[in-house]
Amino acid sequence: MQVIKKLEEFKTLELMEKANKITINEHGLDITLERAIFLSWWCDKGDCAFCYMSTQKQNIKDPKTARRKVNAILAEAELCRRMGWNIEFLSGGYGSFSTSEIKSIAQQIYGITKKPVWLNIGITPDLEDYGEEIAGITGAVEMANPQKQKKVCPSKSIEDISEMLNIAGDLGFKKAITIILGLGETPSDLKYLFNLINDLKIDRVIFYSLNPHAGTPFENKSQPASLYYAGVVAATRITFPKLEIICGTWVDNLANMGPLILAGANGLTKFPLFKMFGTRYGKRVEEEVHWAGRNLKGTFTDFDKLLNGPPAGELEPYIKRYIDMCLKNKSLNE
Ligand code: SF4
Repeated sequence: MQVIKKLEEFKTLELMEKANKITINEHGLDITLERAIFLSWWCDKGDCAFCYMSTQKQNIKDPKTARRKVNAILAEAELCRRMGWNIEFLSGGYGSFSTSEIKSIAQQIYGITKKPVWLNIGITPDLEDYGEEIAGITGAVEMANPQKQKKVCPSKSIEDISEMLNIAGDLGFKKAITIILGLGETPSDLKYLFNLINDLKIDRVIFYSLNPHAGTPFENKSQPASLYYAGVVAATRITFPKLEIICGTWVDNLANMGPLILAGANGLTKFPLFKMFGTRYGKRVEEEVHWAGRNLKGTFTDFDKLLNGPPAGELEPYIKRYIDMCLKNKSLNE
């Protein structure tokens, strides 16, 4: 494919220029801020080679003890609403919460944000239990090359994820996949990604870059180069003009964001929100979006928006705790 060849020939700028035009044409100038909300600190697989959870599973004996308090989850949703952030998805939770509990949390979040939420809860057979509170289902593929994926994620096969996403589509849900760059993929592996997007009629791809965790085989690996990451996103955007593309970057790589936006990102994610809000790091996100010539939906700095909301009843102490964290981190970073 032409775009893969261009990536291999380091013609990243050319790809980005084309991708940027397509993105503005198809999606306009808005850039969203996305927040994954975790339901629990438990994973019933726990063996993906890159994942922090693979270093923790032996420490958690009972998945129920890894559950977050529902009011803390809802408080986070209310704060996202106030700041104008999207909820990227509800994540984890399978094995810690029952399907009816996850549905109930999603319904309550829908009541708060007035937007249906995405789920990323692993391979679940219970999709038909969900309804209007759910926008779409995310399959955490991580790598699209099936041989490499099998080695890195031995317990979640692309076949099983694909089967779940096909059922999700039949039930009327949108479909997303997550891809992590830096796990040993090559530009030519993009053909597997493009086939997956095509075959499964994927609506949204969420790219992340490797975060090398201590205790995993990737702990001494470097994160993917910024222009490689941007080139992959641009090649994807050119191939799929209408696709929603979300890009994750870590706080030590905020300078990636401008190039990722020019490469075709619609939204940005993977921020330690309460550590960054209102600090120079939050301001940096806004600056990156500004200098990419885009409009940021939502705020990373406006405390008036964060502090003001309708009476939240029993959520108040949880909301206050998160706001206090933001205020503390702001003062530490001044
Ligand atoms: S990547 Fe997901 S499925 Fe794999 S170990 Fe981590 S939390 Fe579990």
